[in-house]
Amino acid sequence: MGQKILIIEDEKELAQILGAYLEVEGFMPIVKHDGVEGVTAFFEEQPSLILLDIMLPKKDGISVCKEIREKSDVPIIMISAKSGEMDKVIALGIGADDYVTKPFSPLELVARVKANLRRYEQMTNKNKLSKDEVVFGELVLKKSSYSAAAKGQLLTLTTKEFEILYYLSTNPNQVFTKEQIYNGVWGYNKLGDDNSVTVYIKRLREKLSSYELDYIKTVWGAGYKLAAE
Ligand code: CA
Repeated sequence: MGQKILIIEDEKELAQILGAYLEVEGFMPIVKHDGVEGVTAFFEEQPSLILLDIMLPKKDGISVCKEIREKSDVPIIMISAKSGEMDKVIALGIGADDYVTKPFSPLELVARVKANLRRYEQMTNKNKLSKDEVVFGELVLKKSSYSAAAKGQLLTLTTKEFEILYYLSTNPNQVFTKEQIYNGVWGYNKLGDDNSVTVYIKRLREKLSSYELDYIKTVWGAGYKLAAE
């Protein structure tokens, strides 16, 4: 089955037409006719996108949007009857991703649905990538597996060596003091010796130098940074 699209619209005929168009495109439409049922359906069905009318019985679209935004960043396309109404919604900044004003062509709306889904997928993929994988020059670090590669080859690191390298690589070209590195990797509450950072840095440099990588730079009197040159 395709992705679920929740349509919250009290004009039954319009909701049905939109549902039919989405179904043709392989989506799975779920139609609700008031704000309260709409919110419930959102939590039960976990749709990939929401089409949300503004003027709705029981709970208006603005309240519905705010409520869902507190829990989820699912794409929301607002539907309004008047362009003036839409100006107000935009001014409120309630976190909708897109807006359409009636009357609109169902085909145009389907195109907007697809565009918003694409944008959202790209965004979430990027976030995943930036959290888990850091690429610096010829170095790739994967946080989830604590694995590292240099010039495409596996780089064997101890846990702490990995953590120091990862710490430096999340902010390349920024100078970190030994104390910052220590606190960042070991945590603030541990009693420790900044000099252990020096020892780890020395070992990391040796390991990287066997791949002819000289990314860890000493900034005299300040600390260390990860830099290509
Ligand atoms: Ca309405």
